[in-house]
Amino acid sequence: MSVSTRTPPTSMHRRRLHAFQQALLRWYARHQRPLPWRQTRDPYKILVSEVMLQQTQVDRVIPKYHEFLGRYPTVRHLAKARMPELKKVWYPLGYNIRPLRLRKIAKQVITHHDGKIPDSYDGLIAMDGIGRYTAGAVLSFAYNQDAPIVDTNVERLLGRYFGVAKRGSMFARRRTLWQLAAAVIPKGRGYDINQAMMDFGALICTARAPKCASCVLRRSCRSYPYEGSNSPAAGPRRHRRHRT
Ligand code: SF4
Repeated sequence: MSVSTRTPPTSMHRRRLHAFQQALLRWYARHQRPLPWRQTRDPYKILVSEVMLQQTQVDRVIPKYHEFLGRYPTVRHLAKARMPELKKVWYPLGYNIRPLRLRKIAKQVITHHDGKIPDSYDGLIAMDGIGRYTAGAVLSFAYNQDAPIVDTNVERLLGRYFGVAKRGSMFARRRTLWQLAAAVIPKGRGYDINQAMMDFGALICTARAPKCASCVLRRSCRSYPYEGSNSPAAGPRRHRRHRT
């Protein structure tokens, strides 16, 4: 039976939640990707990486992340950036509204926060250009707070593992996923579990052909074996139905 989008996370089976946390953190300790933005807690650098990663693959972001920070090492440098050069440095990542948004955020940080990126959800979300995901990422990755995040990898993983129904309203599903993202954080481990979910969604519980056969969550996953996965039990794609 799937998690209804109306079911509050408090009704989740404790063992399923515990199994998720334990298995995922163990997996992350062994398999985490050595990404450059994991070498820093500087909120400005975290913010830059998060905006760059929106709709762009990690491999493409890494060299540009270094180049961008070499040119604009602080929020003050970015706030003063000239647009033609900013676009040039950003090229060829695409979605060119993003550097504009970043510079706008930098200007707000200088004007309203004395050059310091806010460390509260309300302070972040009040800024033009920062949404719920980015606010959670900055709080979690820079300020080590137990803030939830839901990006496409996290959404896919939580949705499959907890069997969040895809039918019904998109709004209700999103709300359930955000509730789950908050519920899965063990106290004081927001940074680790959030990074773990993103890596796991990118490497194991992938959009196509998830690696269910070797997945450390398979024993408690509501969707195991997922349709089209590499598990023999999943069978040919056309014969499988979603297990909910
Ligand atoms: S068993 Fe498959 S669907 Fe479930 S979490 Fe693992 S990879 Fe994803």
